[in-house]
Amino acid sequence: MDKLALVREHLEKWEVEGLLVTSATNRRWLSGFTGSAGQLLITAEQAILATDSRYWQQAEQQAPAFEIFRLKDQSEDALTFLEKGGVKRIGYEARHMTVLAARQWKKVKGFSWRALNETIEPFRAVKTAEEIELIREAARITDRTIAEFPFLARPGMSEQAVAWEIEKYMREAGADRAGFDIIVASGPNSANPHHHPGGRILSPGDIVVVDLGAEVGGYKSDLTRTFYLGDPADDQFWDIYNTVYQAQSAAIDGIRAGVTGKTIDSLARGVIESAGHGDHFGHGTGHSLGLDIHEDPRISKRAEKVILPAGAVMTVEPGIYLPGYGGVRIEDLILVTEDGSEYLSAAPKSPLIPLE
Ligand code: ZN
Ligand code: ZN
Repeated sequence: MDKLALVREHLEKWEVEGLLVTSATNRRWLSGFTGSAGQLLITAEQAILATDSRYWQQAEQQAPAFEIFRLKDQSEDALTFLEKGGVKRIGYEARHMTVLAARQWKKVKGFSWRALNETIEPFRAVKTAEEIELIREAARITDRTIAEFPFLARPGMSEQAVAWEIEKYMREAGADRAGFDIIVASGPNSANPHHHPGGRILSPGDIVVVDLGAEVGGYKSDLTRTFYLGDPADDQFWDIYNTVYQAQSAAIDGIRAGVTGKTIDSLARGVIESAGHGDHFGHGTGHSLGLDIHEDPRISKRAEKVILPAGAVMTVEPGIYLPGYGGVRIEDLILVTEDGSEYLSAAPKSPLIPLE
């Protein structure tokens, strides 16, 4: 994929002559440059990366398709940088530009500005072969890590301690870092989809929801498994576990290029609603990921106009959360293909952890 050509093809549609890219992730995706500061200006003729002296060398190495503009003095440089583009009408990423930054850019005389609601994000939805390979590797490490969960997590440990054991294992298995803050939610805490692991001590009879992902070469994976420590005393756990499992299978079975996010969400939500738990599934069914942990497209109630393209990588993660009791979420990583889908995650889904 020629990413610069893609941007240039869209300039006319965006009604601009150049695009200013200020968000870190879009900057990285377009140029390869991983530094923390800089901006891109892309026009029909030019591709310029402006960054400060900390990054001049790194920028040259990582972004060979870009001319490196060496920022020294912010205010004077802004004019010189923009003039280098040789155009007047410049679009910027409305989603990512702060009000203050927009005000400062607009102070530079001689240019007209257009706030663009959507720029690079839709391009990022279809992953390249290299991107898929990095996500695959991140998913493999995540699978290997969760397979160790029964040995890493024992009654008597705190959620925090378990999260740290998981993170250490993932790093030793080859992750550059955790892709996001690992969730370990035990007992009643598992009813909170975004619980932050704390001091609660794991004990027999606990449900434990673990949501984790590795990062490799900037690309993330995302996986959730729900466990039960010991033998479930009542049917409640199996009731919600099996419902979530079936909801997830129904959604994954429906995935293929061209379906809408809402269609897939309805497949999962329908199973959960039929089981009487519609009110206990508050979040969307899935999201894409890549350099960011949450990317477009989404699988949700509101995604009626969102088409899943071939080459998109999606999570499918329905859940049921019963306040005061606990919750179940099962999440896998799926590659959308022309006629179906392919699992990128392969961790088993048996929830029981025998004690003794
Ligand atoms: Zn997750
Ligand atoms: Zn997720």
